Amino acid sequence: MRRPFIAGNWKMFTSEAEAIALAQAILDMTRPGDYDVAVCPPSVHLSSIRDVLEGSHVAIGAQDVYWESFGAYTGEVSVPMLETYCKYVIIGHSERRQLFGETNEAVNKKLLAVLNSSLLPIVAIGETEEQRTNNETETVLARQILEGFAGITLSEQVTVAYEPVWAIGTGLTPTPEEAQSACAFIREILSQIDSKTASVMRILYGGSVKPSNAGDLLKNPDIDGALVGGASLDAGQFVDIINALP
Ligand code: PEP
Repeated sequence: MRRPFIAGNWKMFTSEAEAIALAQAILDMTRPGDYDVAVCPPSVHLSSIRDVLEGSHVAIGAQDVYWESFGAYTGEVSVPMLETYCKYVIIGHSERRQLFGETNEAVNKKLLAVLNSSLLPIVAIGETEEQRTNNETETVLARQILEGFAGITLSEQVTVAYEPVWAIGTGLTPTPEEAQSACAFIREILSQIDSKTASVMRILYGGSVKPSNAGDLLKNPDIDGALVGGASLDAGQFVDIINALP
């Protein structure tokens, strides 16, 4: 049985005080249950957020990581550095791919580095609007998986997030049927690598998830949770999304 998982990506939105207040509010408004929950603050706030959430049911994730452990890589943060603070790390978010030129090869290196650590990866994939219009969604998803996971032994501990780029921060979402069909396709491609493990890996949907659409998205058999951006910056909305889990 796959355990439902809701993760919040705060991107580069919170001040330190706002991040602390948000983490505290989410902690106060939720209880441990048959689900996993994580928040991914900006990396400079990881220490403060650990002080709030340590030992609780709300885990911490990072938004990105570099594949080298130490060295002259100005601005980067490594796996050993994050391990002190985080349980999860997002890899390959579309903003990293679109704005910072992250390739499937870079995703692969990050994934390899993370799988040699205590961190649990959340690998984000998804098609752009143009790719969708050109009916390339499945080709793009398959390439992102097969190149991103090249040489990787699949593990139940790896989460994949299906995040159509055109749905991120736009208020647009695929229909629940379309989201289910894309997540089922992702599982089918993962099955080509290792069918037994693919059946127990969690696949999240991400892209304009709100309390109003969460229930319809989360009830689908291949959607095991959500990666939430904008709505995760509001504790009430984030908790309502958690409460929408079937
Ligand atoms: C995201 O950034 O991962 C995301 C899904 O954003 P939003 O929920 O704002 O579309």
